[in-house]
Amino acid sequence: ALIEWPWKGRMIYHLGLGSNLDAPGRQLARARSRIQKTVGVIRKSSSLYLTEPLGVKDQPWFLNQVIEVESDLSPLELLTAIKELEQSMRRKPGPRNGPRRIDIDILLAGKTVLRKPELTVPHPRLTGLRFVLAPLAEIAPRRRHPFLGRTVSALLRACPDRSIVIRLPAGVSPA
Ligand code: AMP
Repeated sequence: ALIEWPWKGRMIYHLGLGSNLDAPGRQLARARSRIQKTVGVIRKSSSLYLTEPLGVKDQPWFLNQVIEVESDLSPLELLTAIKELEQSMRRKPGPRNGPRRIDIDILLAGKTVLRKPELTVPHPRLTGLRFVLAPLAEIAPRRRHPFLGRTVSALLRACPDRSIVIRLPAGVSPA
């Protein structure tokens, strides 16, 4: 795999946010404001998306959003910051794909490709999940996946995931 190194000190990250517990709209807003304080400047934010849960069906639908953040943190520093942020929002460990107050994933880190035990970038499930690709395509349709070479909008068109993803009009946030 390609690894862009040494670290150059400025990166455009695309982060996926998700919540389905305790007023998800408010959890996402809290996460965004903490990201602004600890990670960097949020340059773009997608709409909020109401999305059908995958795997564990018997749980509330999720609210998902993708943001673009400019940061001086390296990918591993960003991962640490995200884990601290999730902890500080008292995310309780639960089953994979189960209910959660906040989940933050690193989707893209510019053209960087990383395969480490604790961090895989681009996110390995990026290409297979409509709830990730739809909001990402809203704010970054022409960005290319660093090793697949396809644009985000092409990946969305080719995405086999048919689960329901509803873009909410601006200003509408279910609590
Ligand atoms: P999750 O349950 O989705 O929050 O996944 C948690 C773990 O996935 C974290 O402890 C990370 O070490 C690992 N991980 C691997 N790749 C990524 C990525 N691109 N973004 C976020 N977490 C990742």
